[in-house]
Amino acid sequence: MPTLAHTIMRPLVLLASSLLVLGAARPHDCTNLHGAQVLRVVPERAGQVHYLRGLLLQGNYDFWTEPRAVGHPVDIMVRAFQLPQLKKTLSQVGLRYTVKISNVAALLAKERTTQEAARASGSRAMDWTSYHTYQEIMDWLESLAADHPDLCKVENVGSSFEGRTMKMLTLGKGGPGKPAIFIDGGIHAREWISPATVTYMINELVTKRDTYDDILSNVNFYFMPSINPDGYDYTFTDDRLWRKTRSDTNSLLGCMGVDPNRNWGFHWMEIGASDDPCSEVYAGTEPFSEVEMRNVRDQISQRSSSIKVYLTYHSYSQVWLYPWGWTSQPPEDWQDLKDLAQSAAEGVLSVHGTLYDVHNSGGAAGGSDDWAKGEANVKYSYTIELRDTGEYGFLLPPEQIIPTGEENLEGLKVVANFIKDTYDP
Ligand SMILES: [Zn+2]
Repeated sequence: MPTLAHTIMRPLVLLASSLLVLGAARPHDCTNLHGAQVLRVVPERAGQVHYLRGLLLQGNYDFWTEPRAVGHPVDIMVRAFQLPQLKKTLSQVGLRYTVKISNVAALLAKERTTQEAARASGSRAMDWTSYHTYQEIMDWLESLAADHPDLCKVENVGSSFEGRTMKMLTLGKGGPGKPAIFIDGGIHAREWISPATVTYMINELVTKRDTYDDILSNVNFYFMPSINPDGYDYTFTDDRLWRKTRSDTNSLLGCMGVDPNRNWGFHWMEIGASDDPCSEVYAGTEPFSEVEMRNVRDQISQRSSSIKVYLTYHSYSQVWLYPWGWTSQPPEDWQDLKDLAQSAAEGVLSVHGTLYDVHNSGGAAGGSDDWAKGEANVKYSYTIELRDTGEYGFLLPPEQIIPTGEENLEGLKVVANFIKDTYDP
């Protein structure tokens, strides 16, 4: 039983520790991003990887890429006032840094100008030359299904925390019994290239249906292109660099949202996740505390016997990651997963020469890919980190949407053909 002193002290300790991370709790508004930079470090020893993971969990800095393994670059956004402290901290553990993005605020301003110009000139109809809002994406899904009722259908599969309707598009004409691929995007709000790429692939498969007739006749697809609707909208209206959901966490400091890719119920909270609502990697109060993730989970669970592949698209760093995230040990069938990922990466490479690595994820529990494999028994489960390798990071210029879509459609075709041949009923 807690003592009286403990009962009184605990909120104070929580408050003090939350105040320390206030930098991370605050939205990334223009004022506090003046002078912000993205620094890159490349850990050379396991101890340095461990150190960086600890730094991420402390929550003082916004990690744009996560510490995974020795030799893998880690990008950290740092505000101007934090620069001296971070530089000192890094040098203490022998980590050298380079400046990857020297002026985050300027890049944000440039993107805003480009977006505003695109939206002023054209209609709000879907295209892949600018980034689109959640509502535009959902409206487009409905119109696509209405135009091709024999090939696809759209279902409402639940609501987000703030009440946005979540939709899933089912695509295929082979009927039930065919092996299936489940694809989602936009789990992290600021990774705009993810919904853009997933919708690009949907559009190609549907509007060029004759070209893809063999695949569409033998494989079923389930697509949810934007599974964190509240967070995604918030990146358009308030904070371009928001990552989490927008749920109420009852935080004393008003910190909102959960990292939806720490929220899945498989070895939840065991590694690389935080119990502090102000953290960018806050795992939530319990597994599946986030209604959006429950909605996606339920769709996968209902079809887990036919789903052979789960693909979840993120950005950035150009890599196909296979489980596990909760442990550095790979699953028993890791060679199968690695082989298929490598074939897919070769397909991607063949289009524009863009190199995607293949690697096990490691370092964070509660990811959707781990759950899909560990709980839903989807054998081929991958997290795909799209373009780029850090020149623009999350602020990828819209000219790169179509090339990213083209190369990833090639990767998806490799996977679909493999599934068709392997699970031919
Ligand atoms: Zn992500």
